[in-house]
Amino acid sequence: MTETAITFDDVLLIPAYNHHESRRVVDVGMTDKSGKLKLELPILTANMDTVTEDAMANFVGERGGIGVLHRFVSVEENVAMFKRCRHPVFVSVGTAETEMERIEALKDAGAQYFCVDVAHGHAKYVGKMIKRMRQMLPNECIMAGNVATYAGADYLASVHADIVKVGIGPGSVCTTRIKTGFGVPQLSAIQECARADRSIVADGGIRTPGDIVKALAFGADFVMIGGMLAGTRPTPGAPILDEKTGTSHKVYRGMASKEVAEDHLGGLTGWKTAEGIATKVPYREDEEEILADIVGGLRSGLTYAGANTIRELQRKLNYVMVSPAGRIESL
Ligand code: 5GP
Repeated sequence: MTETAITFDDVLLIPAYNHHESRRVVDVGMTDKSGKLKLELPILTANMDTVTEDAMANFVGERGGIGVLHRFVSVEENVAMFKRCRHPVFVSVGTAETEMERIEALKDAGAQYFCVDVAHGHAKYVGKMIKRMRQMLPNECIMAGNVATYAGADYLASVHADIVKVGIGPGSVCTTRIKTGFGVPQLSAIQECARADRSIVADGGIRTPGDIVKALAFGADFVMIGGMLAGTRPTPGAPILDEKTGTSHKVYRGMASKEVAEDHLGGLTGWKTAEGIATKVPYREDEEEILADIVGGLRSGLTYAGANTIRELQRKLNYVMVSPAGRIESL
């Protein structure tokens, strides 16, 4: 890849004639190509310990999306958390040998949706893990990642993952690009990976409803959000009051941060560097508005494209590159 790769702020979608009657008739639902994941709203919440436990999964599940539970708890606690979810939910599993026990326990508890993601998913050991999982979970939905190239997406498809998660380095608390120099600007990564014969989830770097519409238009079938919901009530943990300012905050942190390693993994081992940061975000109570804004932006976005469905939006992709002045004008 030597051509210039692009991300959200580099482009704007071009309006097209809308022959549909009203913006209320558009359908923002999505079913993945395997037919296993059917959502009224194509939103997944990130499997991070400051974003998705049962409260977030119930919140987003209620509104047509789906939560992806993090796995940084014991197997027993993970099963208990899964059982507290009132809607379909993804569970996450790691690639260590000991994770077989987690998979078995969650499967026995009735889990249907599994997420296996590592920082660099285009890797032999990840492929091996997915093949093993597929033997244990012949009919369940397996989402795998993360990758940012066609070859990576195709590799995960070849080992029978149902859904491919895309994003190397775009996350708001991610420092992979700074620490390693690796990554692919997210809209180009989405476009590349969407060529593989799988549905894809655009994961990371989504800050606005408009970013969601762009990700979908460029070929994602679903998007995963973390930072957009950080600090809201359904995220894990209680708000922390700052006595001096009288304001409250919550923590939002990368799962590859030093802080997560210290809390869950006994610290960073000698040869590892953190590829995420921990941040304080204002405590907020507007999770309903955030999701309503996403739904509204998506519906309106479809009408600007003259599209009735997300698939039609994808087929009609038409965009312009934005000049620096155009970017300022967009704000
Ligand atoms: P956000 O929506 O905040 O921009 O991005 C959320 C995504 O960032 C997650 O779904 C995950 O893919 C990614 N992510 C979470 N923690 C880390 C981390 O510590 N390092 C990196 N490289 N990515 C992370």
